[in-house]
Amino acid sequence: MLLLPEHMFGDIIKVRSPRQSAAGKEKVPGRHRMAKGGRGMCSNERAGERNLHANGKAKKQGIVFHIDVNSAYLSWEAAYRIQHGDPLDLRNIPSIVGGNPAERRGIVLAKSIPAKKFGIKTGEAVGAALHKCPDLMVVKPRYTLYKECSEAMIEVLKEYSPQIQQYSIDECFLDYKGMKDHFPDPITTAHKIKKRIFAELGFTVNIGISTNKLLAKMASELKKPDKIHTLFPEEVPDKMWCLPVEELFMVGRATAKKLHERGIFTIRDLARYDKSLIKPWLKSHGVMIWNYANGIECSPVKGDVIPIKGVGNSTTIPFDICESRKAHLVLLSLAEKVSARLRQTDLLGEVLTVSLKTDELDSYSHQKRLELPTNCTDVIYQGAVQLFEEAWKQEPLRHLGIRLSELCSSDFQQLTIHDGALEKKTKMDQVVDQIRKRYGSKVLIRSCFLHADIKPMSGGTTEEDYPMMSSVL
Ligand SMILES: [Mg+2]
Repeated sequence: MLLLPEHMFGDIIKVRSPRQSAAGKEKVPGRHRMAKGGRGMCSNERAGERNLHANGKAKKQGIVFHIDVNSAYLSWEAAYRIQHGDPLDLRNIPSIVGGNPAERRGIVLAKSIPAKKFGIKTGEAVGAALHKCPDLMVVKPRYTLYKECSEAMIEVLKEYSPQIQQYSIDECFLDYKGMKDHFPDPITTAHKIKKRIFAELGFTVNIGISTNKLLAKMASELKKPDKIHTLFPEEVPDKMWCLPVEELFMVGRATAKKLHERGIFTIRDLARYDKSLIKPWLKSHGVMIWNYANGIECSPVKGDVIPIKGVGNSTTIPFDICESRKAHLVLLSLAEKVSARLRQTDLLGEVLTVSLKTDELDSYSHQKRLELPTNCTDVIYQGAVQLFEEAWKQEPLRHLGIRLSELCSSDFQQLTIHDGALEKKTKMDQVVDQIRKRYGSKVLIRSCFLHADIKPMSGGTTEEDYPMMSSVL
């Protein structure tokens, strides 16, 4: 048994029998053959090729690819299972990746095409999906696997271009600049890339090709899966303007409603709308979507790795939290993981945020700037408790999260540890990390969790950790 110094709840860390963690590094879908998988050429492909060769202007403007994994989470699960000997391809049966309804994480995150035929939609409750299709196979998400699959795809793409901008876990842009010497024809190259990803990693992608990121992205959204589409500026009237306006990038439900009220139902309607009337009506967002409707967008493919903006961790609790002490335990279990992840990446966070979601699904958060940037479990936990107590309105809680942002390198910490107590805590964190790394995360737990119905370490790698789609192309 190890005693923690002056710690919360007079905690004891209990040492279990040391044995190697079974949770080894998951194998990323790798080289394998797959029996099935649509490889149908889309009708746009040959037309796109013609356009590309016929259109000198498009070439001068540069070429951008948008690569988008089809039903990413489900495809990655399917590929992983097949490579590990499962004869069943999740893509060919009604299946979803979603949370466990009993733990209230019951949302459909990805669905197979057969599931779609039952009317199952991404974002709906797993219970509702099961009602539509009682035989539906529900698979829990594994974000760590998805991150590895995403990285494996980026590695393949880097063999073609150094300029890759990861846009979300399953989407990226590729700048074709400088590739022409080795790969003269973008469409042939797109086919090669698509085939390689399928052959080597086991999942399908759509690739959109155009002269800017917006049009490349809109192109990859055209018919799915496993397709290549072009959407060059001269193709916009034929291929994009006929689409409902809500299919335009950055037109959400609220904006679509406003547009509909003024008789704008297609992208063409918006593109032809008087631009001078847009600004006073929909402000700068209106101007942006008007430009998008006309295929106008000029941001570069940002080749640099997107810096991590923050490290967060959150959990949905299987029961309503109605008392402070229980909430503190959840915060401690979240702090354990978030601080360990900061230490793993040699980072410190300066701004701490606690987020709360009530049983009515209302969310709010509270944040503060810490005295010093930190990755110390106890400092993060104590800060989170303080923020929680200041913010909580005493309603039953369903979900809690903590997040560290404004990150900096932990080199800085070496210069700032003059505080003996902090130094001790930091050393204790290092020892705990080493033991957990060697024997698994469950060998050391705080005694306060021994008889609690809360996991000693909650949350984990989640969607929030990745650069998700944003308004910034
Ligand atoms: Mg996708």
